[in-house]
Amino acid sequence: MSRPTAAIIDLQALRHNYALAASLAPESQTIPMVKANAYGHGVIEIATALAPVAPAFGVACIEEAMALREANIKQPILLLEGTFTADEVALAENHNLWLMVENQPQLDAILAADIGHQIKVWLGMDTGMHRLGFQPSELEPAYRALKNSRNVHDEIVVSSHFACADDLNNDATNKQIQIFDLNLPTDINSELPLASLANSAAILAWPQTQRDWQRPGYMLYGNSPFSEPQENANQLQPVMSFESAIISVREIDAGESVGYGATWTAPRQSHIATIAVGYGDGYPRHAPNGTPILINGVKCPLVGRVSMDMISVDVTDIKAKIGDKAILWGPALPVNEVAVTCGTIGYELLTRMPDRVPRVYI
Ligand SMILES: *Cc1c(COP(=O)(O)O)cnc(C)c1O
Repeated sequence: MSRPTAAIIDLQALRHNYALAASLAPESQTIPMVKANAYGHGVIEIATALAPVAPAFGVACIEEAMALREANIKQPILLLEGTFTADEVALAENHNLWLMVENQPQLDAILAADIGHQIKVWLGMDTGMHRLGFQPSELEPAYRALKNSRNVHDEIVVSSHFACADDLNNDATNKQIQIFDLNLPTDINSELPLASLANSAAILAWPQTQRDWQRPGYMLYGNSPFSEPQENANQLQPVMSFESAIISVREIDAGESVGYGATWTAPRQSHIATIAVGYGDGYPRHAPNGTPILINGVKCPLVGRVSMDMISVDVTDIKAKIGDKAILWGPALPVNEVAVTCGTIGYELLTRMPDRVPRVYI
């Protein structure tokens, strides 16, 4: 007896998607990105499920890393934006965290830290995204300074991030690779450092981005980063099924309106089902009339405004009754399809799902 709204999380699908990422680059190490509560899927359960196969995890900040440590995750954890304050360097050393080094203050904090062991660092190069990282011309001195520091482990990974890898026809990705390769520092014995480039889109569609480490995020959760079909992405299995149920059905006359603001008016005699899910559960409030909701295997259109706890769906053309399941997104209704209708991306819909929605792991 409870509200029927839940996110069912399929850990077998998660493992399948991780294995796919790993198999696409068998020479690379595959580090799952579990930032933002594992893209809304529940970071502890996701990291625990991948712990037997993942060499490390990637998160956005030290708070996210500490949550994993409290959950007994033992792997190294990469802080993707590095430190925000200098005191985090010592914490990183204590808890076996790897630090991305994206700017001079972060680098200086590492050099100046009073720590007993060497920490592992990833050095970020800005190859065109222009968000984080050292400019290519500044990379060599930064690399040298880290190499010469007693605080830094000798094995430094040089990394960069793609701006347009989800656009299969955009040559910006090849340009970024070229800038990266041209500006990689070499060691005295002219050895190249370890490197990391690929996010999900690059792993799936740009094999020339393969380096020592790859960093899949979105694809692990089973959705495609592309807006068009792509051979490898087609093999992904969505991990989350966002479900609720019909809690009311009524018949209304043509000309009657539904919901707040009466923004939808029935063009014909209609059956309207009320579903127990709303923007308080992360369903997008700006979803327009016609956004698909899967009921009894049929895509039915959302009608009227999304409320905090409920939505209305036109079920005139199907058989629907109280208690029938409604799927907001899942394997048979890709979150990307809902997102496009709502003018956003699947990443956002997954990531902002609040704790109010119980995650049920199967
Ligand atoms: C989030 C993130 C990724 C993963 O990106 P996806 O598109 O979700 O695969 C990779 N690298 C960095 C630096 C990131 O911040």
